[in-house]
Amino acid sequence: MNVLQDKVALVTGGSRGIGKAIAFALADEGAHVAVTYRSAGAAADAVVKEIQSKGCKGAGYQSDARQFVDAQNIVDAVVKEFGRLDVLVNNAGITKDALLMRMSEQDWDDVLDTNLKGAFAYCKAVCRQMITQREGKIINISSIAGVIGNAGQTNYAASKAGLIGMTKTLAKELASRNIQVNAIAPGFVDTDMTGKLTPQQKEMLLNIIPMKRTAKPEEIAGVVVFLASSAASYMTGQVLCVDGGIVM
Ligand code: NAP
Repeated sequence: MNVLQDKVALVTGGSRGIGKAIAFALADEGAHVAVTYRSAGAAADAVVKEIQSKGCKGAGYQSDARQFVDAQNIVDAVVKEFGRLDVLVNNAGITKDALLMRMSEQDWDDVLDTNLKGAFAYCKAVCRQMITQREGKIINISSIAGVIGNAGQTNYAASKAGLIGMTKTLAKELASRNIQVNAIAPGFVDTDMTGKLTPQQKEMLLNIIPMKRTAKPEEIAGVVVFLASSAASYMTGQVLCVDGGIVM
């Protein structure tokens, strides 16, 4: 029995990396999955085809997470196409790293607008639908940078800490409506985002990870499936660090 049979999920930033692995893991459990992407249309098309090859419905939507009005349009389109919306995964995210003294206002705004305001827009857009359905799961992909900070990532850490505050607050607002809101804080995951690190930076990272390895995107996706499933029905407002033991 698939644990998400015929549930409908929306994953922002599902064209690559962790979002793509999340989309596949949800479909492997029987969910129909819509993904958004910013510019990688061909990659998103391939993700949709793979979801469909698993016997589920899939759809891809071009949408810039920084555009507030896009979120409601995408959610409306998903509900029209699939008939409902059970799971929202706010995954779309970027980094624009620099020490604070050298960080530009533009780099601050881009990261906060994409990672935090984008998630706010999608949370707001799904609320009414989930309240009408009397159930729903919202999963925000934060980062351990939002829990313990990371030099060179003031903008990113602030956005990810903001996501945690938003998760806990929205969990309280929606708990009585049978909507659970949780966050995952990954450590270092093998994706394009961490592909930019130099070998020296990677070496330093491995030294602070008790498990002495980075994560595969699938190791984050598995935790999303858990939070989206009825196995996590009594959990809300939580932040699960999936980081090989860095935060403990
Ligand atoms: P990634 O490989 O760089 O993929 C980012 C995804 O987000 C892509 O699908 C991209 O779409 C989408 N995206 C970026 N900006 C967008 C925008 N403005 N509007 C809509 N979509 C946008 O990143 P990742 O490593 O998989 O990271 C996924 C999430 O996990 C992020 O929130 C990240 O902060 C978080 N995270 C990652 C790590 C890590 O080590 N990798 C650790 C902790 C947390 P396009 O393909 O169209 O550009």
